[in-house]
Amino acid sequence: MPITLDPEKLAIVMRHRFQYKICRECGARNPPDAEKCRRCRSRNLRPKKFKKK
Ligand SMILES: [Zn+2]
Repeated sequence: MPITLDPEKLAIVMRHRFQYKICRECGARNPPDAEKCRRCRSRNLRPKKFKKK
C-alpha cells in the first residue's frame, strides 16, 4: 500500500495536530473549536498554536 505525501493533506494534518486549546484549569487538551473543557467544563481555555521558527 503506497503512501502518497500530498502537501495539502500534510498541511491539514499539521494544522490539526498543532492547533488545539489547553484548559487553564486542568490542563486538558481540547479540540480547536471547543468552547468548554471536556474534562472540567471550564470555559477558561487558551489556544495553543504551533509556530515555525
Ligand atoms: Zn479543564
